[in-house]
Amino acid sequence: MCGIFGIEGHEEAAYFTYLGLYALQHRGQESAGLVSWDEAQMHVERGMGEVADIFKPRVLSRLEGRRAIGHTRYSTSGTSVLNNAQPVVVNTSMGPLAIVHNGNLPDSHLVRQRLEKEGSIFQTTSDTEVILHLMARNPRERIVDSLLSALQEVQGAYSLLLVTENGLIAARDPYGFRPLLMAECQGGTAFASESCAFDLLEATRVEELQPGEVVVVQGDNIERYHLPPVHKPSRCAFEHVYFARPDSNIFGDSVSSVRTAMGRLLAEESPANAEIVVPVPDSGLFPALGFSKKSGIPFELGLIRNHYVGRTFIQPQQSIRDFGVRVKLNPVRQLIEGKKVVLVDDSIVRGTTSRKIVRMVRDAGAKEIHLRISSPPTRWPCHYGIDTPRREELIAARWELDEICGYIEADSLAYLSLEGLLGCLSGEPASYCTACWNGDYRVPMTADPRQGRLFPISTEDADR
Ligand code: 5GP
Ligand code: SF4
Ligand code: MG
Repeated sequence: MCGIFGIEGHEEAAYFTYLGLYALQHRGQESAGLVSWDEAQMHVERGMGEVADIFKPRVLSRLEGRRAIGHTRYSTSGTSVLNNAQPVVVNTSMGPLAIVHNGNLPDSHLVRQRLEKEGSIFQTTSDTEVILHLMARNPRERIVDSLLSALQEVQGAYSLLLVTENGLIAARDPYGFRPLLMAECQGGTAFASESCAFDLLEATRVEELQPGEVVVVQGDNIERYHLPPVHKPSRCAFEHVYFARPDSNIFGDSVSSVRTAMGRLLAEESPANAEIVVPVPDSGLFPALGFSKKSGIPFELGLIRNHYVGRTFIQPQQSIRDFGVRVKLNPVRQLIEGKKVVLVDDSIVRGTTSRKIVRMVRDAGAKEIHLRISSPPTRWPCHYGIDTPRREELIAARWELDEICGYIEADSLAYLSLEGLLGCLSGEPASYCTACWNGDYRVPMTADPRQGRLFPISTEDADR
């Protein structure tokens, strides 16, 4: 998962991009980068860590030009190295090209192997670079033609922004896995993964790129192209469950409204006899609100999150039980003690964090704990840019509901149904990807996607 932002045609392009990345920080905290074009050369800055750590005033003032793109990267593998930070910048016979990418190309290693055999030398281990190599090997008079042909050689999930000498290009894959929006922004044209990045910049005329749409902007001139359509679009439904910020609008729906509706439906499908509804912050907030509204059970902020916990902290010398989770979350005993509690969260991946949270709430004196999850059981790994562990590590892939409930030590456990979830979204049910719940992988792959190895998220990383 990653966040991307770009703008064409504004004096302060790099500064706006920096602000856009700030708003998209939740989509990735491993590294961030920004590139600008000043009509003569590219200026690049990339670093490990969060946006605030990387871009200082001196750095930003160096990133001149009226065209810029940026990226926040989510940790997708153990090898989190600066070299894999984006933007990726290369020189080609069509001039310098810079790219940022949100998504994943499941079969890109095959294209990469072919290109390497034919002499290409890759700078990074990321799949994004494959697109640049395909472009470099097939130069055209108009750069967009080179991109359009490269994109027909790869399949998968991508929302892309490119800086070229002749403009900024935005592209969304024909499946439409990841969101990508466009807006007018103080005389310029901006693009972002989520609409929340436009709000601070007072952008207007916000619209979402269509699946397969490619937009080229140079100054005031905007041109639109379309990649060949696929049978069914596959917008990632999990964006609405977990990834996107609640103040964003994506895929034509308000994320907070969708999450609240999921909570309401959860209360209808799986009611609980309890005295308070407590969200697991932050992802459980809106579904818990919905659950409370529908059930009439009072909403209480019984778990407080420490927002200042960075990626790593020093482990204590002697062991403190459930240290990792307890640094981030702490129960409010006065609210919980002696109560029957409905605990609401968005998803269970491995189950390890959920188990610790249930224990913590139990230790704070809860009489009963009824865990309600606002999405269906996660049974299959994601190959389209969200970091889920291997299939064996997904608790719901191995166990039945009652076994999971036993492991988590809750008094009851229920998930939202898949039909219910899809009913909370305004689009056609068939137009969303639901593979992590039902194994319906829409992008053809050479390997059986259900067997594939994906990158583990560490327990310490869970729910940042
Ligand atoms: P678990 O009990 O599976 O260890 O952790 C569940 C928590 O992980 C939930 O609160 C959920 O919000 C969070 N979560 C779900 N998907 C992801 C993900 O892709 N990355 C991270 N870091 N957390 C996730
Ligand atoms: Fe989203 Fe799940 Fe599909 Fe991945 S598998 S794109 S997380 S819906
Ligand atoms: Mg969570």
